Amino acid sequence: MSLPVIETTNRSEDHRSDDGRRHLLDLSHDELARWLSEKGQPAFRARQIVHWVFQRRVRDFQQMSDLPKSLRRELSDAFRVIVTTQVAAIESKDGTDKLLVGLPDGGEVECVLLRDGSRRSICVSSQVGCAMGCVFCASGLDGVDRNLTTGEILEQMLLLQSRLDDAERLSHIVMMGMGEPLANLDRVLGALAIARSDDGLGISPRRITISTVGLPPAIDRLAKSGVPYNLAVSLHAPNDDLRSELVPVNRKVGIQAVLDAADRYFNASGRRLTFEYVLLGGVNDSDHQARELVKLLRGRTALLNVIPYNPVEGLPYVTPSKRAIASFRETLEAGGVNVKFRQRKGSDIDAACGQLRRNRA
Ligand code: SAH
Repeated sequence: MSLPVIETTNRSEDHRSDDGRRHLLDLSHDELARWLSEKGQPAFRARQIVHWVFQRRVRDFQQMSDLPKSLRRELSDAFRVIVTTQVAAIESKDGTDKLLVGLPDGGEVECVLLRDGSRRSICVSSQVGCAMGCVFCASGLDGVDRNLTTGEILEQMLLLQSRLDDAERLSHIVMMGMGEPLANLDRVLGALAIARSDDGLGISPRRITISTVGLPPAIDRLAKSGVPYNLAVSLHAPNDDLRSELVPVNRKVGIQAVLDAADRYFNASGRRLTFEYVLLGGVNDSDHQARELVKLLRGRTALLNVIPYNPVEGLPYVTPSKRAIASFRETLEAGGVNVKFRQRKGSDIDAACGQLRRNRA
């Protein structure tokens, strides 16, 4: 079977400002080290700069006091540290903050900070819009506009980090915001490389989760990267007929190919798989479907994350009744599936992906 080409093309090179300056955060550590060496600087300056931005939360080269003054000037002439703006911030009663982030070309994406005990998790976007077309999701209603650059992905993390006290640290990252991270894999991996580096955010890959609609060739590429990120696969249905209705990209892929790729990822990474299942009232929440799901997941080292639907204005889907949720849960537990029912966090602030951007449009 030929697999679809779903990688989104990059409409332009990574941004340059009107004044010709580049976005510092679009450069990998090696690219920055190379730029520095062309200026006659030692490679360790790259680590110093990353440390200032991510650990010390400094946004201005002039404040990087352990860099030579002349270098600070050269950096200011060549690069901008921050190119995005915070368009809106909403705080939920349960400690969830959601930001709408403005991009240099006028696009907007969302990202979220979740506080849970000592955990400080962030949910980050990978694209402006989404091409996958999941019928219940607000992010893809108008299709995809473009991929985010590495720097734009990292800036979401910095904007969310700036909401923490000096003593607080970001602890977990989930690539579960707008977009399909595996359709923008190179930039996502570039951003996560900085996020997990010691001078960056210092977050272990075991605390980083990449969520995908399930694109087998890209899952295999992710496995080859050799970094043990957690993989979450958005399943949403126990059979191909229903999955193709809910997740249109499934028509060209099929559940079996998705599960096979997930199994290969598990074998390569050793990380327990997560499957996500958005529970839609009257659509995918019957006892029969729960039993189908039990059969599908049997024998896998996997966690099933069930997320009661967060309603999106204008879409016909509803959150299942409490009784339907409890019954779905009992069937899965009786079938021996390792299942977690996710609390809906931030539902008072449109926290489900794509909703804030839409409701402001
Ligand atoms: N494209 C990736 C990541 C973004 S979506 C993916 O499909 O996994 C992150 C998760 O949120 C997915 O499981 C998605 O199906 C779910 N989701 C989207 N809209 C939702 C809503 N309104 N309520 C609950 N979950 C939703």
